[in-house]
Order: sequence, then structure tokens, then C-alpha cells
Amino acid sequence: MAGRPVTRFAPSPTGLLHLGHAFSALTAAAQGDFHLRIEDIDRDRCRPEYEAAIFKDLAWLGLDWPRPVMRQSDRMPAYQDALARLAPLTYPCRCRRGDIRAALSAPQEGALPAGPDGLIYPGTCRHRDLRDAGPDDVIRLDAGRAFDALGLDSIGFTDQGRSHILTRQQFLAGIGDVVLSRRGMGTSYHLAVVVDDAAQGITLVTRGMDLFASTHIHVLLQHLLDLPTPAYLHHRLIRDTAGRRLAKRDDARAIRQYRSDGASPDDIRRMVGL
Ligand code: GLU
Repeated sequence: MAGRPVTRFAPSPTGLLHLGHAFSALTAAAQGDFHLRIEDIDRDRCRPEYEAAIFKDLAWLGLDWPRPVMRQSDRMPAYQDALARLAPLTYPCRCRRGDIRAALSAPQEGALPAGPDGLIYPGTCRHRDLRDAGPDDVIRLDAGRAFDALGLDSIGFTDQGRSHILTRQQFLAGIGDVVLSRRGMGTSYHLAVVVDDAAQGITLVTRGMDLFASTHIHVLLQHLLDLPTPAYLHHRLIRDTAGRRLAKRDDARAIRQYRSDGASPDDIRRMVGL
């Protein structure tokens, strides 16, 4: 890839940024021209005060980014457009989690197959037509038909120069018919992230290892929407002393808590091993 990569940090304003976010943002900034995107499609969980805190905490860490900042809640027309383009490969689904569990657990009990998006959807609604979509339905991608339409047996991406390939069969068994539009949302994380990474011209996506499996979904969507596949860097996760991943509810490890306790941005870098 010629030139300096274009990278991004894409937090959701559902809580205060913690050390894991600091590591993620600093990793993105170290790798290229740093962009910020606010992922606020989940209107019930996002709050303006958390968005304000993101700007403040990142600036305190010494980061800067082009303005205006892309905010996903402003981007619904772009997601609707992508969804319309994918329409021939999608179907409405009215199954709730309980229906999916019931369909999957027959005939035997036990651990149910799950992928990056939860249970592997058994295809109950796959025959349904989009024109019959109800207001409470989600929209799913028919992954089998998507691979057929592309004429591909596998998809892949590179992570730090290493290539990762997933076959059609592995995708269908391990990921399945993902949701492209959630109930009442008009889009999903996967669809929005793919449309926006392309719109922001991101050439290197840096994010946590926890999203590695989701990247296969994103690459399939990039193929279907004729968008370039960026390079990827899935970084290690910052854990607490008990070895657990940090979560937004861990306010004790919020960047601003450290700041008010007198830590400097360099202290934060050291704490995350940079
Ligand atoms: N918004 C996602 C999160 O806060 C990150 C999305 C991404 O990096 O692709 O976990």
C-alpha cells in the first residue's frame, strides 16, 4: 500500500472510555492518519455526555482528528442505500431469540452453535419476501446466496501482512445469515461499519481481537457492495488484574478517573504497554 495508512478509532458513546479504548485509539494514531467516528446507531444506549467525554479524553491523550467528526446517526440515508442495493440477497426475519433457540435445540439439547453475532440463524424465515417485512422484523443477509452471487468459494483479508481465509462453508456454519438491519435501527453494526470505513477512506482498520471474527462479515459485505477491503490490525485486549477484558461499566478504569487521580497521558501509555 502506497503512502501513509488512513486509520480510525470508532467508539460508541455508551460509557466512559477506559484503558482499552486508550490503547485502541493510540494504536490507530501510531499507524497512520487518525480519524474518529462516533458509532451511535443504538439510540437507546448512546448519550451526548459520553460523546463529549470521548472528545475530551482523546484530546487529553494528545490525539487530533479531522472535523467534522463522522457520526453514524447522521448517516442513515447511506445505510438505507446500501441495504437497498443488497435487497435481492436479504429477507425479513421475525424470529426472536427464543424462536431461534427452539429451532436450533431440536432434536438435542446442549451447546448451540454461535458465531460473532450470536446463535447461527437456522434459516426459518429465509423463504420470506422483503415486501412482506413487518415493522418489527429484522433484515438478514442470505449468506449462501451472497456467496453464490459473487461466485466465490472463500473470502479473506490480511492482518499485519498475514492472510486469513474463510471458505463459504466455514462462513455458513460459523457465522450464517447475519442481521443487516436491527429492529427499529435501520442498520446494524456490520453494515454501518463497512459503509463508513469506505466513506472515510480508511485503508487500515485497527481494532481489538474481539472483533476478529466479525471482520469476515465485513469483507463479505465489502465484496457485495463493491467496496475496497482495507488492511486490518486486530490488537491485543487490555485486561484487568484478574485477566478479564475491560468493559465500559468498569468506571474505575475510566481514563478520566486516572486523570483526576493525577495520571499523565504518558502514564496511560505506560499502563497499556506502549
Ligand atoms: N464501535 C465499536 C465498539 O465501540 C468498534 C467498531 C470497530 O472498531 O469496528 O466496540
